[in-house]
Amino acid sequence: MTIDNSFVSLLSFIDAEGGCDTCWQWLSGTNTFGYGRISINGKRRIVHREMYKSFYGPIKNGNVVRHSCDNRRCCNPLHLLQGTQKENVKDMVERQRIPSMISNEIVLEMFQYWEKGYSQRDISKIFGYPQGTISNCFKRLGLRKV
Ligand SMILES: [Zn+2]
Repeated sequence: MTIDNSFVSLLSFIDAEGGCDTCWQWLSGTNTFGYGRISINGKRRIVHREMYKSFYGPIKNGNVVRHSCDNRRCCNPLHLLQGTQKENVKDMVERQRIPSMISNEIVLEMFQYWEKGYSQRDISKIFGYPQGTISNCFKRLGLRKV
């Protein structure tokens, strides 16, 4: 583990008093998805990703850092896993963190289209849901083009 200045400054915003077994709550600002946000050298960074990198090293291109604890503000490295976006979506669908108006199977199917490069508008036409519904759904899943 390498400790640099950015890591030390991260720690001052984290409540880690509960020890290794508990969530380390991020106490400062979050982004629209509820993930801890910080500015490092003028660049916007997502806190749990920075935490992951400080402890485990680089994140593979296109991969996401997931929370095993389901707590988006959590920065406990023991609760962070690296995985693909697909694994992340599967995870969230299984834990029912998506709008209930669309079934899990459909969301996974939509994701497969999205991954192939279809736009939300295309997906809206294919599945017959309003684009806003799909957009909401994808936002909840934290999907973005990589
Ligand atoms: Zn946690």
